Amino acid sequence: MAETRPEIDGERLLGDLEALARIGATPQGGVNRIAFSPADLEARQWVEEAMRAAGMEVHRDPAGNTIGTYPGREPGLAPIALGSHTDTVPNGGRYDGALGVIAALASVRALHAAGQRLRHPVEVINFVAEEATMGGGTFGSRAMAGLFDPASIHHEAVDGRPVAEHLRSAGIDPEAVATAARPAGSLAAYVELHIEQGGVLDKAGVPVGVVEGIVGIRRYTAVFEGEANHAGTTPMDGRRDALVMAAPFVLAVREIAVAHGIVGTVGTLRVSPGASNVIPGRVELTAEIRGLDEATLDAAEAALQARAEADGAAFARISAKEPVVSDPAVVAAVETACRDLGLAYRRMPSGAGHDAMCMAAITRQGMIFVPSRRGISHSPEEYTAPEDCVTGARVLLGTLLALDAALDSTGEG
Ligand SMILES: [Zn+2]
Repeated sequence: MAETRPEIDGERLLGDLEALARIGATPQGGVNRIAFSPADLEARQWVEEAMRAAGMEVHRDPAGNTIGTYPGREPGLAPIALGSHTDTVPNGGRYDGALGVIAALASVRALHAAGQRLRHPVEVINFVAEEATMGGGTFGSRAMAGLFDPASIHHEAVDGRPVAEHLRSAGIDPEAVATAARPAGSLAAYVELHIEQGGVLDKAGVPVGVVEGIVGIRRYTAVFEGEANHAGTTPMDGRRDALVMAAPFVLAVREIAVAHGIVGTVGTLRVSPGASNVIPGRVELTAEIRGLDEATLDAAEAALQARAEADGAAFARISAKEPVVSDPAVVAAVETACRDLGLAYRRMPSGAGHDAMCMAAITRQGMIFVPSRRGISHSPEEYTAPEDCVTGARVLLGTLLALDAALDSTGEG
């Protein structure tokens, strides 16, 4: 049989997105598919049936992740996986997660329709409970990547019930979730198409973002001690106003972030005693910075610390989440796909966490972004133009084909 080049069926893809958006649809035009709710389970079922129709074998792992497998032609090669999630935040949008799963499905359907098998098996993974409705996000991918914390089944879900109860009602044994872990190297690669959820691509008019990595996040406290006193009787030259001491630092966080090419935010400010007739005696603020490069974060952190201490504050780091850099082979495959399709693209970081971040623990991974109109997400207003959805799927399929050709049998290609 002559081989035809597999092509994404754009109409079918948009029809699938519509169909999925009807499951859990809200009157505002959004979607309510909180993990393990009846709508979520119905959507998972819908995806499983679509997987079977596209020639895949389907199973659920002990964490509740759905894995569809399309066989490859070279024995012994580890699968290349494509995926995302179909659960949503409460009153969320129709594209976050859903597009990645539907596009993965469309990629395999394209192979199936062309009667083509790749060298590697292809997996489509619909991760369970990606959104932070189960006391934390990326529940399913953490389990698959061996990062699952057994204590998390006792956390409180968004509705106040324990996570374990949600799992049981969905037919998942909470004690068995950790056994969903797959060994490092059991996949040749993982690729995720996702909406950007920010406004960079939309503003630039660029259809594709090649994700260089998922940013690291560092959080700090800075405490300024002044002296609380009467706001009426204390002359201006005799004051030690903690908020006046803190104000330049708030501006410095912005300046330091800009100077290092990262983002920086002061998100909370606690002014004590907090009365309009009392000079602030103490200010405690939290600042965070996010960036892709550890050395840059180190440099920004040193600058923040020096500045805070010069301003008279006690400065401390309260948390640090490392950046997860995309695998160069996956980034190269996405760029190859864009060039083959004649598409403009931009390299960019992801400012939000995704399943791909967890999968980095067991395989090479990368992501593709498509524009979010006005950068709005986690809202019924979330929108990605139909042509951008189809373009994203074509890039995903192109990336799959490029990786299939580039990766060698050991998965070390
Ligand atoms: Zn998502």
